[in-house]
Amino acid sequence: MTDCVFCKIVERKIPASVVYEDGETIAFMDIGAVNPGHTLVVAKPHVENVFGLDDTLAARLAQTTARVARAVQRAFQPPGMSVYQANGVPAGQTVMHYHVHVVPRWEKDGMDLVWPVKNPPREELAANAEKIKAALAAG
Ligand code: 5GP
Ligand code: ZN
Repeated sequence: MTDCVFCKIVERKIPASVVYEDGETIAFMDIGAVNPGHTLVVAKPHVENVFGLDDTLAARLAQTTARVARAVQRAFQPPGMSVYQANGVPAGQTVMHYHVHVVPRWEKDGMDLVWPVKNPPREELAANAEKIKAALAAG
């Protein structure tokens, strides 16, 4: 994709501080780093979001994410780490090329994810589980 900023980084058309790459994945420092060590793990092919990942690419991304998270932990020694991934504008995605945020976390670092717990009734959870199981069975 010619106007995709992450494709441009993959193709080395714009600079980035790359920490790791292999055939399918690349990891570099987030330009807007929330905390020191904030790293993005990115699919090399232009895949917009999680729905476009095949099993092989999903596995490679999970492997790179875990590897980078261990390295960030070793390098920065934070007491916490958020591994965060957004799909679509309502979820907060701003760059439409699949990426995972690896963010070292400290107490009161200002990064807030509001999590409005609804505690739905047991029957609702069971009904929702059936919907997902049917979708999984359909492929
Ligand atoms: P999203 O909001 O889609 O989950 O995250 C996109 C991230 O990409 C943001 O945290 C933003 O700082 C980062 N970003 C956007 N443009 C660039 C860029 O040109 N270079 C780098 N290294 N990061 C970028
Ligand atoms: Zn792209």
